[in-house]
Amino acid sequence: MKASQFLISTLKEAPADAEVVSHRLMTRAGMIKKLGAGIYTYMPMGLRVIRKVEAIVREEMNRAGAVECTMPVVQPAELWQETGRFGKMGPELLRIKDRHDRDFVVQPTSEEVVTDIARQELRSYRQLPKNLYQIQTKFRDERRPRFGLMRGREFIMKDAYSFDRDPAAAQASYASMAQAYRRIFDRFGLRYRAVAADSGAIGGDLSEEFQVIAATGEDAIVYCTESDYAANLEKAEALAPAGPRPAPSQAMTRTPTPGKSTCADVADLLGIPLRHTVKSIVLATDRTDASGQGTQVQVWLLLLRGDHDMNEVKVGKVPGLEAGFRFATVPEIADHFGTRPGYLGPVGLKRPVKIVADREVSLMADWVCGANEEDMHLTGVNWGRDLPEPDLVADLRNVVEGDLSPDGKGRLAIERGIEVGHVFYLGTKYSRAMEATFLDESGKPQYLEMGCYGIGITRLPAAAVEQNHDERGMIWPDAIAPFTVVLCPIGMDRSAEVREAAQKLHDELQAAGVDVMLDDRGERPGAMFADWELIGVPHRVVLSDRGLKEGQVEYQHRRDAAATRVSAAEVRAFLL
Ligand code: ATP
Ligand code: MG
Ligand code: MG
Ligand code: MG
Repeated sequence: MKASQFLISTLKEAPADAEVVSHRLMTRAGMIKKLGAGIYTYMPMGLRVIRKVEAIVREEMNRAGAVECTMPVVQPAELWQETGRFGKMGPELLRIKDRHDRDFVVQPTSEEVVTDIARQELRSYRQLPKNLYQIQTKFRDERRPRFGLMRGREFIMKDAYSFDRDPAAAQASYASMAQAYRRIFDRFGLRYRAVAADSGAIGGDLSEEFQVIAATGEDAIVYCTESDYAANLEKAEALAPAGPRPAPSQAMTRTPTPGKSTCADVADLLGIPLRHTVKSIVLATDRTDASGQGTQVQVWLLLLRGDHDMNEVKVGKVPGLEAGFRFATVPEIADHFGTRPGYLGPVGLKRPVKIVADREVSLMADWVCGANEEDMHLTGVNWGRDLPEPDLVADLRNVVEGDLSPDGKGRLAIERGIEVGHVFYLGTKYSRAMEATFLDESGKPQYLEMGCYGIGITRLPAAAVEQNHDERGMIWPDAIAPFTVVLCPIGMDRSAEVREAAQKLHDELQAAGVDVMLDDRGERPGAMFADWELIGVPHRVVLSDRGLKEGQVEYQHRRDAAATRVSAAEVRAFLL
């Protein structure tokens, strides 16, 4: 490829809204271009990286026996109503209507559609196991799209779904995927950890996240310094001993509230296990009465993280809650907890979490929340956008760091990571909801056992940059670099020798299957080098008149401090 033909558009300045290094550098290097919040064009340079990530994923998925298909981005709501997710999922699910006023969703993932395929196509145990995957555009109306490709609203995901005859077979499929993921992430050339992600609702370690280690990661990982043990935040929380806990912030007061509505009561009412499924329940009362007397209240339920469908925030009026809870007036509630009129919320957590809603909640002071102790609440709890986000890692340090690892092999430590992949054993959750059965050996219908497996194709390059960069720009591992080698001829317009040598090396490398870029733009050396250092091409060869006269070119790896002289005759062999 020649630079004059390619679209290269580097910028000196990063966009003002770019908070993390990958967003800044990928934008400056002209890899991505923002179109709207969380919506990006993958520019030619960026798309090359994405395609390489896809190719590795595709190769390893195929090797593991998965078969590729492509499911629609826009999906009829009917299927989503069958599983209840059309109603249950929060605002992250983008719902749209067609000209006939029929409901559709833009896929955030595709369990419904793939289960619909399975119930039609997989009729006999003889057809099992099957694993269907796609590499496709997803849309999630993330509450806070940010960090460029890291948390987009439109993004590309590889999603795979396995179908099996029984739990043992499903677990074998799961294990085979978990292994394929290790091969995939090994090939990317990044430092990562596979961490246990399930807190045991289904059993065993049948959910793992693949986390790229990076200081800017939004997730926390707890790992053992002496063994392979590693777990994500939720899992580690479940491990936390009942002993010392992070001290509440100063304004907070632990208040005994015997017999008052607790998180356990709410979970009970909703028929959900408290510890493992619900991270946090907040019941907020909201005055709707114009008189301001506060005699009318609405009850809202906010679930933060923990729900397997969304793992995110859900906001909604709780159906049936009226039956179990008497509507209290705002003053009554305030009075009861000895606080000012505001909000009431029992929370099932050891520590407070940030409360968010899909509409602005301006009153964030004087919350009351459960202290996760019998008959105890916290009053005077403050949350808000103006306050710093809770530092999950710091919280976790207080709780588990230095403890003995569950495998007994060493002590626990904590670091940050970026979730780039997730494997999950689903059981019959979707097949039951959608009546997806096959006939077993005795001709009896059985529910299909399922698993689902995601990889954030467009998040991965961002994670790679978070982990591999310096003050000059990105540093791509060879496997996913936009180009592996860049040829920088100096004085190409003046010297036929440089021109010919560069062209010849370009053609030879290209013929050998190397992803080579020849910078024939005629830029001055300084500007040319700065561009390629920003773009992060791992191998650079500089050809100059003077060097060629001595039969030499200069080679420099993006991580090398200085160039090495290599014989021009041998550079091809040197690079291959
Ligand atoms: P997160 O916890 O970061 O919100 P998730 O757990 O909701 O991610 P999954 O449903 O497990 O995501 O989806 C599979 C993969 O898709 C994730 O591991 C991640 O790599 C990627 N992914 C999820 N949400 C986004 C997003 N908004 N932008 C880019 N990639 C994403
Ligand atoms: Mg997650
Ligand atoms: Mg999410
Ligand atoms: Mg996940």
